[in-house]
Amino acid sequence: MPEAKVSLVAGGAGFIGSHLCEELLRRGHRVVAVDSLISGRRSNLEGSTFRRHRNRFTFLERDILKPLRVDADFVFNFASPASPPHYQRHSIYTLRTGSEGTLRLLSLARDRGARFLQASTSEVYGDPAVHPQPESYWGNVNPAGLRSCYDEAKRYGEALCMEFWRKEGVDVRVVRIFNTYGPRLDPDDGRVVSNYIRQALRGEPLTVYGDGRQTRSFQYVSDLVAGVCAVMFAPDLAGEIFNVGNPGEFTVLRAARLIRRLTGSRSPVVFRPLPSDDPSRRRPDISKIRRRLGWAPKVPFEEGLRRTIDWYRRHEVRD
Ligand code: UDP
Repeated sequence: MPEAKVSLVAGGAGFIGSHLCEELLRRGHRVVAVDSLISGRRSNLEGSTFRRHRNRFTFLERDILKPLRVDADFVFNFASPASPPHYQRHSIYTLRTGSEGTLRLLSLARDRGARFLQASTSEVYGDPAVHPQPESYWGNVNPAGLRSCYDEAKRYGEALCMEFWRKEGVDVRVVRIFNTYGPRLDPDDGRVVSNYIRQALRGEPLTVYGDGRQTRSFQYVSDLVAGVCAVMFAPDLAGEIFNVGNPGEFTVLRAARLIRRLTGSRSPVVFRPLPSDDPSRRRPDISKIRRRLGWAPKVPFEEGLRRTIDWYRRHEVRD
């Protein structure tokens, strides 16, 4: 048997990171998850896949701002607070993680000859003036607003990746991730899907910010993980950037009504002030990843929501 490949997943105890770890274990990798547990949770690493493959799984409670030595073949950088309330609470930490932390991981990949995948974000497009957003769009970001600690850290992270590819020859790939939801999305995250589901299950009002006409395109977490693996494991993609998202576009008001119906909740919908710099619309142009890698999302919003609601019912929120 050839030796198992080693994947390092920074942010491995987070919502997306933990799903990625599971998929890598299923693919036969040895997986080292690193997480500071600022927003990740140990309980995300306790499912049956982790138990079944525990001889190939290691968890290190470690911050990527500190030196790290892992002999990895593949480095996945998913370390960062990612929900608006969370990254705004930890704004300086978010800036440091996206800049210094990414620099450390890129240096590790260079020194070990590992391939590197950067989890970037649709936030690099800011409040987009181009719709839907292709990878070639440069974005419309307020560099000094409340969201900039995340947006600019991720933009800087992309710049760093591209220079490590151009100047240091690291095989770097970047995915720009659009809004993602699914089981293990932290109920305390303050995001739209987690807030609505929790509110609906508790019989509390569903809080729609602004007039609710702003849009988002929501992808189910298994689709995202499939896209991430497609980008990481295909040959000859060094220096390439891909949007990974579901082009189905919903107003946040429609999402509230849908979740209300799927949970069978009688909660009212209430309107709250719109946070500053909240993007008015967001939808990925996924023609590049479709054409180059044959990837497309499979799980419709309603189906993904049913699975997510089911998980919330069983794990986090009692009716
Ligand atoms: N939002 C909302 N109610 C909530 C939480 C969020 O209407 O309880 C809105 C928010 O203003 C934004 C959208 O839903 O327009 C998505 O917010 P989220 O924080 O999930 O992610 P974002 O895409 O803004 O990073």
